[in-house]
Amino acid sequence: MSHLMTGSFQLMKSLNRSLILNTIRKSGPISRAEIAKKTKLTPPTVSNLVSELIESKMVIESSQGESKGGRKPTMLIINAKNFFIVGLDVGPHSIKGVFANLDADILGRSSIALKLPLTNEQFLDRMTSVIEELLKENSQYNQEHILGIGVAMHGIVDVSKGISIFAPSLQLRDIPIKDHLEAHFKMNVKVENDARALALGEAWYGNGMDISSFMCINVGYGIGAGIIIDGKLYHGDDFLMGEIGHMTIDPDGPTCSCGNHGCLQALAAGPFIAERAMSEISSGKTSILTDWTEVPEQITGELIYQGATEGDPLCIDILREAGSYLGIGITNLIHIVNPSLILLGGGVIKAGDFVLENLRATVKQRGLTEQAKNTKIETVKLGDDGTAIGAVSLLLVEVFN
Ligand SMILES: [Zn+2]
Repeated sequence: MSHLMTGSFQLMKSLNRSLILNTIRKSGPISRAEIAKKTKLTPPTVSNLVSELIESKMVIESSQGESKGGRKPTMLIINAKNFFIVGLDVGPHSIKGVFANLDADILGRSSIALKLPLTNEQFLDRMTSVIEELLKENSQYNQEHILGIGVAMHGIVDVSKGISIFAPSLQLRDIPIKDHLEAHFKMNVKVENDARALALGEAWYGNGMDISSFMCINVGYGIGAGIIIDGKLYHGDDFLMGEIGHMTIDPDGPTCSCGNHGCLQALAAGPFIAERAMSEISSGKTSILTDWTEVPEQITGELIYQGATEGDPLCIDILREAGSYLGIGITNLIHIVNPSLILLGGGVIKAGDFVLENLRATVKQRGLTEQAKNTKIETVKLGDDGTAIGAVSLLLVEVFN
């Protein structure tokens, strides 16, 4: 079984095959003749490679197309419902896994909580068991049609080696994720930072489809971004690109987990918003939160959002202030990257207009030009599954591009 899995993946790696596959993906249903025209490959080359793709079941013949006289051409489409990818979203508290087809339909789920402290070996064991469970629960699908495993990992990731260089929330370093999972499952494994995976997922399946340059920003437990320029996801020289959570917004601001002061993350990420509420309450501010919780330590970002919807002034102020700080950070990014679209996701963004109104107003106020002021700022499409679907799309890049 394992050799076939690697085999079916290798089969699709050749450049012309990928070119044809991608043409069918983007323009299907499409005839062989149209593929030849679009790819500038010769009709016999297209015909041969299409035969191979049909044999590998990656491509299927669909309905007959329109004829301009003579025999109706046979149309081709990707057999997306019959090929699969395993995607993992590794957060600070849990590993969430999905078993999906190439249309990103989620066919199965599995997850595990992460309790600290963990060693690298224990962490890899947890990851392995989530994947094993997914494969077992979905064994009715053709296992030879699994293209591989994508891992969206929080923290700093060496994408070329598939190593988690530093996972701050787990306090782990140098975890050889790719080597370990490839040896265990005999499948192709891709590892990427979670915010960048989310951006890729939005590019393939979400609100970033067909947009050549955009940024996707995740505002949750931490703050990270994926930056796509001309359709390509960027990493930087040492995989630090997009670590916008540690952009300094206020040098005299609160201490960040990184040790610096006034990082964007320390002013607008979920845990810091909660801390802000706690300290305001301990210094005597009244809030509905005190009716809901026995001790200030129980205050969470969700609770603050609930408070805001009940009209609690403290909760509303805190979320609006986080929105302003995010607006400052995003204006800086607009001036550096100049994307046509910014997509926002993550727990804090679920607070909706309590955060977004001030965020957008701050960009309008601070942007350098009319275009910068009016940069489109929207939310992600894929929601809570976005990062896991992003992990799935890591394998698509390999197959189709
Ligand atoms: Zn920081």
